[in-house]
Amino acid sequence: MIIDLNELRERGEPLVVEGDFAESQLKIRSETASLTRPAHARLRVSLAGERLRVNGNVTAELEVPCSRCLKPVGLQIDKNVDLEYWPDPKVEKEGEEIALSYEELSIGFYRDDVLDLSGVISEQIVLEIPMKAVCDEACRGLCSQCGVDLNETTCDCHPDTLDPRWAALLDLKSKLK
Ligand SMILES: [Zn+2]
Ligand SMILES: [Zn+2]
Repeated sequence: MIIDLNELRERGEPLVVEGDFAESQLKIRSETASLTRPAHARLRVSLAGERLRVNGNVTAELEVPCSRCLKPVGLQIDKNVDLEYWPDPKVEKEGEEIALSYEELSIGFYRDDVLDLSGVISEQIVLEIPMKAVCDEACRGLCSQCGVDLNETTCDCHPDTLDPRWAALLDLKSKLK
């Protein structure tokens, strides 16, 4: 969904966008996460001069694999957002270097008087996806040798069937004692 800033300017008042966004409308750049139902957003888009403010709420339900056992883990996202977008300085002021302070780096930029609101929603969802989700803090994961799910069963893998590189290290360790 594209917000045209010229239209917003003419309108003279904030635009409230509320609706469901299917995964196909978003750009969730994650190889493993998927929405289990359309995300929902209620966002108020307002302009103050050149500065565009997007505030409201984004909710989503996702599924990601457990980083240890690969079972799907459900994630609930309910996020209040308050974001600011400025005209892209690279486009606006050609040849003029603009130094941005650290705080200002949390500000986004728009180009050509348009803002891709679906992109904003996708970004907010992706930011909430943990790097390593686990189904349970106590998840035992998969056996590194035979691959069985150690939460459900045990296996006959023994330390002596360790990867030979590990075995060599253990051997060294015992010699050092
Ligand atoms: Zn797990
Ligand atoms: Zn095993």
